[in-house]
Amino acid sequence: QRRDPNQTEFQEAVFTVLDTLEPVLDAHPEYVKANLLARLVEPERAIQFRVPWQSDDGQFHVNRGFRVQFNSAIGPYKGGLRLHPSVNLDVVKFLGFEQILKNSLTGLPIGGAKGGSDFDPKGKSDSEVMRFCQSFMTELQRHIGPDLDVPAGDIGVGGREIGFLFGAYKRLNGYQNGVLTGKGLTFGGSLARTEATGFGLLYYTHAMLKALGDTLTNKKIKISGAGNVATYAIQKATEYGATVITCSDFDGYVYDPNGIDYQVVKQIKEVERGRIKEYAQRVETAEYHEGSVWDFDTNYDIALPCATQNEISKDQAELIAKDGVKYVCEGANMPSVPDAIATYRDNHIYYGPAKAANAGGVAVSALEMSQNSERLSWSFETVDNRLHDIMDSIFEMSEAADKKYDLKQDYQAGANIAGFEKVAEAMMAQGLV
Ligand code: NDP
Repeated sequence: QRRDPNQTEFQEAVFTVLDTLEPVLDAHPEYVKANLLARLVEPERAIQFRVPWQSDDGQFHVNRGFRVQFNSAIGPYKGGLRLHPSVNLDVVKFLGFEQILKNSLTGLPIGGAKGGSDFDPKGKSDSEVMRFCQSFMTELQRHIGPDLDVPAGDIGVGGREIGFLFGAYKRLNGYQNGVLTGKGLTFGGSLARTEATGFGLLYYTHAMLKALGDTLTNKKIKISGAGNVATYAIQKATEYGATVITCSDFDGYVYDPNGIDYQVVKQIKEVERGRIKEYAQRVETAEYHEGSVWDFDTNYDIALPCATQNEISKDQAELIAKDGVKYVCEGANMPSVPDAIATYRDNHIYYGPAKAANAGGVAVSALEMSQNSERLSWSFETVDNRLHDIMDSIFEMSEAADKKYDLKQDYQAGANIAGFEKVAEAMMAQGLV
């Protein structure tokens, strides 16, 4: 707080984790002696750079680029790039910090990082996005590599952007297909990477419900967002026999009591890059409303926030409880403010935190790295099965930590502790670095 008084989102992420680590620190006084937490919250490296680019009308623009390489104790840095006007060092640090424990939970050898820029791809032409990506990569390429730091997508960075970034990297360094993940299938991408975070969220939710003697069949689910994570979460939830009654974008939300059709969402948001209100113009049973989906009052069973950070306030969490929700699992990163999480706890809502529930994307990214190293491509089924196993194991690890430290079904603390234990052990073994 003293060093970074204005980094409120980073502080929120850090304190939410540190508050849950006490039982591990009590069990391991050597971690306290080694000042491990002070080292954990300080990035190994934070890079900020200028990204100049030219728009189609000939004007010159300058954006800010970031890459925060947070922790490499268990493997090369890994984490997405976000393109959104709200991106600043605070946001990138919060995301990078979360990524350390998330990556650890996957059981794969990857460290934590995050990056991005305050460039807004919305409304830009393909050529403008390409010129921006080329300029961004001209600097970023100095700091990344297949065994050093492997970025991927996040908000505003999908297949198109990764393709442009990869082309720019290749031009400067030659063909090294392990340098980015989320690539197109014709140049080293993995099948099931596009679906991974959304599918993974449902595999995790399924594992949690199963452990509690419940099932997804016939459940009513509210989902926020209509991007990459939300779209494939809708698909998998529907396949499990649940009904997804909402999705949303920045402007408003769609409600359809008969169930949202993920293919229509995909067509509007992924293919046409349109607005979600068009959904209600194409599907008769759907209604569109402006505002937040979390202010919409209706009874349902499961909330899966898949849009952005701090999208659920304390008041909205209270409405979630009043609406009879039993489970909240997070597809977006840090979508619930700390008071909202406390509200879930007070109302006995089971809570699957982002770093566990949305780890499917980075897990399949790591599988993409394995395929690139082997120079092989696995089938959709192989990747999807591995993803399913990884998400089951993330829930099991969180549950095991919960039991070990008698946390009373606090899966948030369980995930933090399970992710932390591995990183802490590796940091201790590597000495004061
Ligand atoms: P996308 O850019 O594909 O989609 C984001 C969606 O959320 C868009 O529909 C966007 O609407 C909507 N949105 C953004 N801000 C708001 C808001 N304030 N209120 C309502 N809706 C909003 O991003 P992703 O789906 O990739 O990412 C979503 C979340 O999941 C992020 O928190 C990201 O960090 C996290 N995540 C993503 C992973 C991935 O593999 N993609 C992996 C792990 C986590 P609009 O179109 O209006 O901008």
